[in-house]
Amino acid sequence: MPRPASALIHADNLRHNLGVARASAPAARVMAVIKADGYGHGLERVARSLRSADLFGVASVDDVRRVRAAGLDHPVLVLSGFDSPEDLPLLRQLGAATVVHSPHQLDMLEASQGGPIDCWLKVDSGMHRLGFAPGQVAEAHARLARSPQVGSEITLMTHFASSDEFAGVETANQMRVFEQATAGLPGPRSLANSAAVLGWPRSHGDIVRPGGMLYGMSMVAGTTGADFGLRPGMTLGSRLLAVNTVAKGGCVGYAGAWQCPEDMPVGVVALGYGDGYPRLVAASTPVLLNGRPAPIIGRVSMDLMTIDLRGHPEARPGDPVVAWGEGLPVDAVAAAAGTIGYELTCSVTSRVLFSED
Ligand SMILES: *Cc1c(COP(=O)(O)O)cnc(C)c1O
Repeated sequence: MPRPASALIHADNLRHNLGVARASAPAARVMAVIKADGYGHGLERVARSLRSADLFGVASVDDVRRVRAAGLDHPVLVLSGFDSPEDLPLLRQLGAATVVHSPHQLDMLEASQGGPIDCWLKVDSGMHRLGFAPGQVAEAHARLARSPQVGSEITLMTHFASSDEFAGVETANQMRVFEQATAGLPGPRSLANSAAVLGWPRSHGDIVRPGGMLYGMSMVAGTTGADFGLRPGMTLGSRLLAVNTVAKGGCVGYAGAWQCPEDMPVGVVALGYGDGYPRLVAASTPVLLNGRPAPIIGRVSMDLMTIDLRGHPEARPGDPVVAWGEGLPVDAVAAAAGTIGYELTCSVTSRVLFSED
């Protein structure tokens, strides 16, 4: 028997969330971002579920290959762009577009042969990660527009550092810098990630690029996806392996990190950090046992975690446990682990059995 740890991917919820993105940005085309194996949900599974998206955004040429092998002929953009001349024939062959963010890439493109590749010119409007500085944009655009190795429509894009702060000034500043740097240049505009789709309508432009919201996750501190009408893309679950009674004063798990304040039932769940559940999670973070919260006690270990069953007198080995997903937002578990939901879903390991409902 395989271990009972399982990740159920909710295809209908992914489609619902794409609908929320469309309704939020009704005038824009929607690129579904499926990098990092579809934020850990499975790239092919997500791409097929979201085939009604207008475009896909991926991390590498290899991801493009996987989209094509899944039978999908959508426009695909490699978000980090190419970093070697060997990628260029592959981009041509797969019919994929690339981000161009540096003079180094312009050199490689101009030196290549084999026909036009669609390019998205990336402007660094203030995040200071990838992109041309505002003062270099016009020249970079001119070089792209001149090159026979570049497709005739050049999309202009930028990426936000703080769009999850709806009241902050940073995103408005980035929008202004982007507008000024691209003024007068032809081509579609693309700025918005999930948080900007939800909170910065003026940034929507021609193409929006939601990722996390499609999987039901929120980027906004103190909120969950449900607060924006989103539904979970993944339910990570397992089963109760054992129900023990531990005497008052007994210590549970590694380092005896939990001491029983009374004689009490303790449940052992077949899920641990070897499955991708975070080892460092705040005391008494809950899982759902038979649909009701049960706090984790003691340390999360590699294959197992222990839970307080005092509120669950009916618990039996084999009962279903949900670590996040339907009924327990991944955003809340992530907050208890000092991270974001994106990191948790990306960290589910390959020994977890994936399926789709
Ligand atoms: C990952 C990524 C996105 C999607 O971001 P979310 O916060 O997941 O919506 C959009 N654009 C670029 C360039 C990205 O790298």
